[in-house]
Order: sequence, then structure tokens, then C-alpha cells
Amino acid sequence: MAKTNTPALACLRAALTLLLTLFASYTFASDNQHMVPLTLEERVQQAEMVIEGEVVRQESFWDARQENIYTSNIIKVYKLFKGEVQTELVEIVTEGGAIGLKKHVFSTALKLRQGQQGIFFLKRQQLVQRTPGKTALSTRAYGSQQGFVQYDVKNRTARGVFENYANVQELYDAVTKKTGKKFRTVTENQKLKVSAVQESQKQNQSAPLAPVITSFSPAVASAGTGRILTINGTGFGNTRGEGHVEFRNADDGGQTWVRPLPTEYISWTNTRITMYIPSVMQDEGTAGSGPIRVTTNDGSSFASVTPITLQFAYSNVEFDDKSFKPILTEQDNAGGYTILFAQSMDNRLPAKEGFRRAVNTWVCVSEINWKLGGSTTINAAADDGSSVIRFASQSTVGESVLARTISRYEGCASSSDTLFWVTEFDMEINEQIDWQYGPGGPSSQQFDFETVMLHELGHAHQLGHVNLPRAVMYYAIEYARLERDLSSLDIEGAELVMAHSLEQGETLDEFLCRDMPGPIEPSQSSECNLAPEVLTLEAEFTTSNAVLVSWTTRNEQDIDNFIVQRSSDGVNWSDVGTVESEGPSNGGELQYTFTDLDPLRNQSYYRLEVVYQNGESSFSPRVVVLNPADIRVLRYFPNPVSGQGSQNGSQLTLYYLVNRGATMQAQLYNAKGQIVKEYELNFSTGVSSYTLDLSSLAAGIYFLKWQESNQSGTEKILKL
Ligand SMILES: [Zn+2]
Repeated sequence: MAKTNTPALACLRAALTLLLTLFASYTFASDNQHMVPLTLEERVQQAEMVIEGEVVRQESFWDARQENIYTSNIIKVYKLFKGEVQTELVEIVTEGGAIGLKKHVFSTALKLRQGQQGIFFLKRQQLVQRTPGKTALSTRAYGSQQGFVQYDVKNRTARGVFENYANVQELYDAVTKKTGKKFRTVTENQKLKVSAVQESQKQNQSAPLAPVITSFSPAVASAGTGRILTINGTGFGNTRGEGHVEFRNADDGGQTWVRPLPTEYISWTNTRITMYIPSVMQDEGTAGSGPIRVTTNDGSSFASVTPITLQFAYSNVEFDDKSFKPILTEQDNAGGYTILFAQSMDNRLPAKEGFRRAVNTWVCVSEINWKLGGSTTINAAADDGSSVIRFASQSTVGESVLARTISRYEGCASSSDTLFWVTEFDMEINEQIDWQYGPGGPSSQQFDFETVMLHELGHAHQLGHVNLPRAVMYYAIEYARLERDLSSLDIEGAELVMAHSLEQGETLDEFLCRDMPGPIEPSQSSECNLAPEVLTLEAEFTTSNAVLVSWTTRNEQDIDNFIVQRSSDGVNWSDVGTVESEGPSNGGELQYTFTDLDPLRNQSYYRLEVVYQNGESSFSPRVVVLNPADIRVLRYFPNPVSGQGSQNGSQLTLYYLVNRGATMQAQLYNAKGQIVKEYELNFSTGVSSYTLDLSSLAAGIYFLKWQESNQSGTEKILKL
């Protein structure tokens, strides 16, 4: 796949190892073009139109089927670098938005704001048909967030996700070099012109007194949790005016600065600023670790010498220019959220298992009430009351995006407060990525599925990105990276979101809205007692009657033995053998094998009970194996099928075991050779069944003819 040759940008973005080490020290390189996932050239080439413009109007709207909220952004066109536009207004449709107290947030998608200016890379959009924009041209940004390079009009600079331009002219030059022609001015960009005049006037005046940061506290904190930051220094100016405090952007590894909402400031004097440490920002981004920059009303800036460390971010909901901490509630009448597998996920058994492990990891640390609820025929990310995980095409998920999470919120306002809660979340995985589903590790050109799912589930847990490379919520991932455990900081963040949700859950009665949810209940149903020593576990049929179970351990110190356990349902386990420990391993790895000579039919699970010398024990994650003797063999029950009036009706159940999803065509013939019924049966991975209702048929002999891929057969059925 061509895709994997360029690192994928994502909610979980892909990055090169160098990028990780580079930003570990809070520095950033301005010349990092070789790491840019979508180069300027790619964007200029792929976009149908490249324009300079300004967001002059915005309106959120539902699509025709009421599945998703989009935002129509009306752009006033100033310059045209590529393509043709007939009018001076163009619409850009972005994903997500708010209608009333309902809000949809995509973990990776371009978000625009009125008044923003810059260069847009656009393609005609076919996502939604009816838009409120009423412009001749409706578009989407090519490359999502990378489809917009935003201006700082006052300073005449420009920045994109992976790029910085010292001045706007530099960006013009770069774009025209790629298009090979001059731009055309559609309308004069007055604001930019005025700022150029002011800039030259300013240079003739004496420089204003620059601000200086002497100290700030706390040095270590979290974002979006209500922590207050105090900045001490001189020359901040007596009032804020257009002044602001900026943080490094955790959504791009700290390459750019991001600005809080004006409502986050508590006080501003010439020597001291106090404010809440935010997670949602005025433009895109999340406050991350790194230096803090103060800019005064007259535009002079000072960045702190020492960095602030933001250990985790609580994803706040921005509403009416204010930030709110959304809570987790009960949405499934069983204490929390039930996650459903779309067919595309259900068909990939190793992916389901990898996802299940990632869910288990979060449930174990925060007791978040997530349950896996089986498969669904829903194949869309929609506001439908169901949290669905599915594979989707790259054009849906986003060019160079690995996976994304869509959080949907609803709010209720009381006289004094507004509360937002998560109603559901949907997850979309890029099907064009070369995934390693586990339990083995990824090759050098693969992405590790469980690692990426752990990150995406972090978003569903309402955690934002951090700018600390070892955390699961770091914004980027490089090829072959394996991070299937949470860091202590990820855990701290998850615990705080749960604690806040439980606390707020007790006040839900005080909000007088219709359909208020119940409070979330901590989950007790997870496999949490996992042995840290077990690195990998695999099971496979080596002959028709033998399953080879193999595992590796790391840092074995006081393990006595391993009990190999087997289960047909993943719930009830029995011991099948014991292997003595070969440790201690003095920090190294050890390899073990065990052969089960009496394997189960159909589908079975294996896991290890790790027994320590002090008699305590813990477990490995489980693995699933399908018996090849049973794969794609049709079984059915009962035969004969009972007649009318019998207790279980006239039903015939078909069982068909497949290692990926399969569609079976089947016809039922009567004894005269006439077709009486036809079926199209979809079987999902692992053991799945279909029940046929034969109650309308007369008693007699029937023949069920079936075909699935190159397998086929005819079964004689007797109906009583
Ligand atoms: Zn992410």
C-alpha cells in the first residue's frame, strides 16, 4: 500500500522517530519539511482550488438523515492561486459543530472560526447535499487540518499543522512556485493591507517596552481541569486588551502556539496574570507542555525560559466561547456505554481481540463502564444512540489519518450552570493502513492496532493530546511503535475524568431537562489482574489434533509455573497443562511452548495463569484459535425439524465457522425440485449461526442447497 510509505497523519498522527526525540526537549525545528506528511506540493496538486480567504459566517446544520452535525463556513475569497471561482464567496463544509445543546466533536477534523484568515486547499465536497451556505461552490478542505494555513494578521505570519512562515509573502512565494503562475486578486484583503501599514509605522516608532516573565506556577499541572496558572513578571500592560498567553500545541507536538479562549483569563495586571489552564483553545489545538508566551496589547512577546509540563488534558467542550468539562453518564441502561462492532470490524477477529484488550486496559485503570455488545448492521458514524466501531475508507477517515473518534455531547442549562455529557462515541479506522492486530508485534512498515485503539479510546474517555512522548495520548505514532500499556499520567487523567463524572452524577437531579441520563456506574467486570511479565502469547493448530501455545516473558523474577488454560466461551476456563518457570531471567526474555493434544472443536480461547513463588497468581491476556477441521463446514440442528405447534417452533439453526466474514447463498427445494425459499446469510468471524423459520412449509422432505465462495453442498432436511 502506497499509504504506508508516507507516515500517516492522524488524530493519532504518524511521526518519525526523529520527531519524537526532537520534541522531547520542547524545541522545534522550523526546517522539518522532510517530516511533513502532506507537503505543500501534494496539497497544491491535489486541491482543485487554492485560495486566500476569510471566514465571514458560520452555521451548523444536520445532514438530511440527522446523523451528523456539520458546519458551513462561508469564506470571502481574496486571492486565487489555483482553480476558478465565479463568486467572491465559497463554502467550506467541516465536520462537527453545535446545534442547540447538541455538539459533535471529531478528534481529527478541521475546525474554523469566524474571522480566521489564511490559505485554503479545497476540493468540491459530496459529503452532504443540502447545505445552508447557498453559495455556488461547496467545498471541503483537502487533508483536513492540513488544508488550512492560518494567518496571524497582526504579525503577518502564517502557520499550518506542520509548517511556519515568518511572513505571508513567504507563503505566497512558496505556493506560486508550486502552481507555476501568479495569483489573481479577487477582492482586496483590507485587514492584511492595514496591518502592513501599521507594521511599517511601528518600525519608525521607538520599540515598546517588552514584557518579561520572571516566574510562573505551577510548573507541573494538567489542562482543562480547572487548574489556575499564575504568571509573574513585568511589562504585561495594565489591561489585557488584545494581549494573550499562549501554550505549545499538543496536537502537533509543540510546533505551533495556541491561544486560550478569552473567558479563561481571571486577572491581568502589569506584573501578574492569572488564568485557567485550558484544553480547548480559541483556534484549533490543545494546550501542551513547553514554554509559555505572553504577548501584550501592543504586540510584543516574551516566552518563558523554563517549560510548563501539562501531564494530561481533559477534553473540554467549547460552547458559547466558554469551556466545560463533559461527564460520562449511563447511556445503555446498564451503567455506561455499550460498544457495537460494525460488520467490517466483526469480520476481522484479530482486530476485535486487539480492540477488546485495549478496552480492558482502560476499564481496569479507571473502571469506566464500557461493554462490548456484539455486532450491528449499522455501518455509519451517526448520532443514533449507538457507539459503533468500524473500518472506513481513507477518504472518509481523512487523508493520512490512522483512526478517529467522534464524541457526541448533549447539554442541559440550569439557571447557574450548563452541564455537558457524552451521549455516545463512534470510531472510524482507516482500512487502507497495514495494521498489525497482535498479539505479535508490528513489522517496520506496520502500525500496531492495539496501540492506536488505546489512544482512540483515550479520546472516548475524554482525554486530549499531550506533548509528552511516552504517554499514550501523545499526538503522533511512528511505524512499528508498540505501546499497549498506559503511562501513569494517562491513568491519572482517566481517573480524574471518572471521579469528576461520578461527582457530577450525583447532581443530575438538579438539572431540569428532559431525558437527563443517569450517573455512570464504575465497572467491575474486567480482566485486570494481568501479569506484567507476559510479553506475547500465541496459539495455533500445528496439526489437525494439536494446538501449539507459545509465549515469551520479560523480567521474570519470582514466577513458579504457568498453568495453560482453555475455554470455549472466554468465560469459563479449565486447566490443560502446567509449564515450570525457567527464570529468573535477569532482565532478559524467555520463551516457552506447550502443546494441547486434545483441542476443542470450533472456536477456543487460551490464556496463562501465572503462579508466583508466594502462591499468588495473575493472568495473561487471552488469545483465540479456530479449529481448521471446522472451518467452512456447514452444521445444522435439529433434523428432523419439528412441525407446527411444537415448543421451539419449526426452526432450523445453521452454524458456519469462518476466519473472515462470509456471505452464503442458500436455496430450499421441495421434493419436486421447486425452490420454496431463498436466503443470503452473512456469517461473521468465529462461531456464528443463523436460524431459519420453516413454519410456513408443509411437512415433507426438503433439500438445502448452499454455496459460499468455493464451498458448497446439499443437505437433506425432514420437516415433521
Ligand atoms: Zn488523537
